[in-house]
Amino acid sequence: MHISVIGTGYVGLVTGACFAEFGLSVTCMDTDAQRIGKLEKGVVPFYEPGLTELVAKGIKENRLTFTTNIVNAVDQALVIFIAVGTPPKADGSADLSYVEEVGKGIARNMTGYKVIATKSTVPVGTGERLRQVIKANQTSSHRFDIVSNPEFLREGSAIEDFMRPNRIVIGADSEQAMAIMKDLYRPLYLIETPVVMTDIPTAEMIKYASNAFLATKISFINEIANLCERVGANVQVVSKGMGLDQRIGSKFLHAGPGFGGSCFPKDLAALVQTGERHGYEMQVAGAAARVNEKQKFAMVEKIRSAMGPLKGKTIAVLGLSFKPNTNDLREAPALTIIPELQKDGATVRAYDPAALEESCKLLPGLVPCEDAYQTAENADALVILTEWNQFRTLEFERLKTLMKQPLLFDLRNVYEADRVAGYGFRHISVGRLPVE
Ligand code: NAD
Repeated sequence: MHISVIGTGYVGLVTGACFAEFGLSVTCMDTDAQRIGKLEKGVVPFYEPGLTELVAKGIKENRLTFTTNIVNAVDQALVIFIAVGTPPKADGSADLSYVEEVGKGIARNMTGYKVIATKSTVPVGTGERLRQVIKANQTSSHRFDIVSNPEFLREGSAIEDFMRPNRIVIGADSEQAMAIMKDLYRPLYLIETPVVMTDIPTAEMIKYASNAFLATKISFINEIANLCERVGANVQVVSKGMGLDQRIGSKFLHAGPGFGGSCFPKDLAALVQTGERHGYEMQVAGAAARVNEKQKFAMVEKIRSAMGPLKGKTIAVLGLSFKPNTNDLREAPALTIIPELQKDGATVRAYDPAALEESCKLLPGLVPCEDAYQTAENADALVILTEWNQFRTLEFERLKTLMKQPLLFDLRNVYEADRVAGYGFRHISVGRLPVE
């Protein structure tokens, strides 16, 4: 079977490379000519573990090709996945202009029956809207079906998530399209991946409900953490105690500086906006977003209150991407926290294994460093903002000799407070009492 994927970002490229690995013939299309030029040479334009190798393999075995021309992408493909961005508009609603543009391009170039599947996260009703856009722009009478096939992969473990998903969700209103989609995912039946087959609006809602729920879990534990600090409880033990209850589960119960990334903040906003459009207030999703925004500023307050006036002080930040194993900075807490520290007059030195170059473009005045130890030189405090593995085994004795003061803000609760304090560091974390 020949398929195509429109959009070669985190979702589109992983989808294309993984389906090629399953043995399908895949055309990946993007309007970004520079990106396609790189991909044709096997250069992946962002950091995602294992993706370079998978793309190279697909190219070598002639199953993965790239184009900027929608005609080539539509021509031979039976299934066309739409994986373009759906960024937030000023009112929080999802900007569907990229999805609609692709719909028009498909409509004008159809060569036969097509299954058009949205992998982009799109609000309920988009499938129907896309159907109307395609009908209105069709220059032929070929039949087509719309499918909603939301993607749940996580950046940093995207390939594993795609190859071993917890579930596949397929929303369709045509038996033919459903059968084709099931066939496409057949390789995953061997590992007994559950498939949720439903209608299009339900599939679209599953994605938003899932992301909003995960985001709510994070905001919930962050609120508990803030209260723990005030009452002398330890949020890590609280999380453990909660998570052992199978009805709750231990995932997404890690207190920290708030969530970022291209999905949770925008999907919460879009869900709230969908509610508004239908005259219903999505109170929990709205609160999860507000708590998250506050959490980033609570981290700044934590630093201010422990260090006093920041003017003239140097703060060393480890980790800038919104989570480890990605260079994605979209909505990263670093983008809020660092400018606040700079506004107070602090010099911020920083290191990130993958996101440093991009960070320097987004954060004027940031002093880029080559590793954790160079970052710590002459610093008044060290802040762990993203828990990359390499920050989990820092040599505190060495850090102490490099820094002006031994002060650690462990905003991801990576370290046992007593251990760090044993090296003479003042350890301040999230949802646990500070240890001197
Ligand atoms: P991205 O911004 O990394 O990539 C989008 C790509 O689409 C870009 O390369 C862009 O050039 C291309 N594009 C835009 N308009 C185009 C057009 N008209 N024709 C062809 N290409 C076009 O986006 P992403 O992070 O991969 O996310 C894509 C969608 O998947 C979003 O709706 C997102 O919410 C959803 N999603 C993302 C993740 C994630 O972890 N990133 C996970 C699940 C779902």
